[in-house]
Amino acid sequence: MTPSRTTPVRTVPLAETDGAGANMEGAGAAGVRWDLSHLFEGPEDPRLEQALTRSLESAGAFAAEYRGRVAELTAPELADALDAYEGVQEPSARAGAYAQLLFAGDTTTPRHGALLQRVQERGTEIRNLLLFFELEWVALGDEHANALLDDPALARRRHLLVAMRRYRPHVLSEPEERVLGEMANTGRHAMSRLFDEIMSSLPFPVEIDGETRELGEEEVLSLLYAPQRDVRRSGARGLTEGLRQNARTLAFIFNTLVHDKAIEDRLRHYGEPMQVRNLANEIEPESVDSLISASVARYPLVARYYRLKAKLLGVDSLADYDRYAPIPGAEGARSFDDARRIVLDAYGDFAPEMADVARRFFDERWIDAELRPGKRGGAFCASTVPSVHPYVLLNYTGNLRDVMTVAHELGHGVHQHLAAPHGLFEQDTPLTTAETASVFGEMLVFRRLMREETDPRVRLALLCGKIEDAFATVFRQVAMTRFEQSMHAARREEGELPIERMNELWMAANRPMFGDSVELTEDYGWWWLYIPHFVHSPFYCYAYAYGELLVLALLRRYDEEGAGFVPRYLELLAAGGSETPAVLLSRIDLDVTDPGFWDGGLALLEDLVIEAETLAG
Ligand SMILES: [Zn+2]
Repeated sequence: MTPSRTTPVRTVPLAETDGAGANMEGAGAAGVRWDLSHLFEGPEDPRLEQALTRSLESAGAFAAEYRGRVAELTAPELADALDAYEGVQEPSARAGAYAQLLFAGDTTTPRHGALLQRVQERGTEIRNLLLFFELEWVALGDEHANALLDDPALARRRHLLVAMRRYRPHVLSEPEERVLGEMANTGRHAMSRLFDEIMSSLPFPVEIDGETRELGEEEVLSLLYAPQRDVRRSGARGLTEGLRQNARTLAFIFNTLVHDKAIEDRLRHYGEPMQVRNLANEIEPESVDSLISASVARYPLVARYYRLKAKLLGVDSLADYDRYAPIPGAEGARSFDDARRIVLDAYGDFAPEMADVARRFFDERWIDAELRPGKRGGAFCASTVPSVHPYVLLNYTGNLRDVMTVAHELGHGVHQHLAAPHGLFEQDTPLTTAETASVFGEMLVFRRLMREETDPRVRLALLCGKIEDAFATVFRQVAMTRFEQSMHAARREEGELPIERMNELWMAANRPMFGDSVELTEDYGWWWLYIPHFVHSPFYCYAYAYGELLVLALLRRYDEEGAGFVPRYLELLAAGGSETPAVLLSRIDLDVTDPGFWDGGLALLEDLVIEAETLAG
């Protein structure tokens, strides 16, 4: 429960893979590597070990000074303590960020993995020393705490302190917290890692040209994007077969984790399974409910689009394995230089200062875009520590989606860079608003591409790509959230769930979204088994829908207000996580607590579908 420092990672199960099937030439991104020396000179840099030691020693000194005394502190003393608390963590956070980036850039060098493990272990030691501070603060009576919170000396730390106290009814004693924390390493964390290890080595038997080949997860999922229908069908069968053969073990992992969560929720007095996630997201449960119900009410839009897609693909009815089939016209490679130009131009049209920040990622080597063996897949932006700058990792292959990914990650980069002055604890936003600048940046680039493109076939493909991304971020995530709700509820009522029961819940959550537009085969029932979010971060998914619909609302505001909107938007980004999303958004007159709010963004999605229908003729 230490304020979490999110490093938004593009692991959206958008379409169910990312950058797979890449050719290793990488369309001109060769040589685009980041320069991590801004953090440390190398894994042998003596300053690295010194940073860890400094954090550990100063954590010890911090505990010696403040342990058992938080209740006695005056407001100015508490402000000093918070500064010290932040100062203690900065060196180890810097080492941690470095270790993660080094590992992401090359996962195969054993020294990188060992360094990552080392900083994680040190991190646990440091956290254990500091644990008392939050617990003592949270334990203060409301009257005492409120008096301190009203003191101007703590104005800068008010949001952080209030955010910690949200957990007041749910924290346990320090010894209990330590036991739970340590046991999680052999419990929940071990189960998560087992899931990752199984998935990364799982063979998926795929029949291609009469021959059965064993593919990995990324490869088999990439077949669902193939232009040829029989290849997609084989990929789907292979995916199902691989999952089915390992379903007993995978289902055991899910059952264990769902039960583990039920136990911890009970010990910590959480009511419904989503409550702890909502607290972390700084969002009211009513707001999540209205997001979900507004999206469900628009499910018919999904069916309407898939009927159009069937027509565009020339098939009578769309099968589950046809959902990601490419729309003809989306082909065509873009060099990395092109991507750079398109993104910087689109950003610069909106706000020159946004392009200025984004340009630094290229010019100052804050970005790693080339394809390299051993490099982590996908893409992400890591905020690191406020005294340095964010870094972006991409695997650039040159397709249109990759251009969007550049726009997406640079959006995170700009957001994090602007918010860095808020310091280690508040530079990053909660999940719900973490995707604001990234999705907004993608929309700017999408609109620019649409304006520049004259070929109606390519325009339609672009538009369909945007619609499919948005659907995957809104409706698919909502369906996944409803599945999780039903799975956690069923486990609590019915005990350990047989795999067939979980498959049934998955189908029940998905069927209403597709209506009769997509034929869901029995295979589809197994396809929840590989989704990592259910394992690693329960109820993560609705934040994607929240983020996307929020951005559509912002975009509509921009269309209405024009240039006057720009400084307000940049202020929103620069505020980082220094206030709750509802407060920050209310400053630009957006009311996310209004149940009707979400429908505005959903209406824009409908406009996109109508435009696609018109273009298709
Ligand atoms: Zn993102």
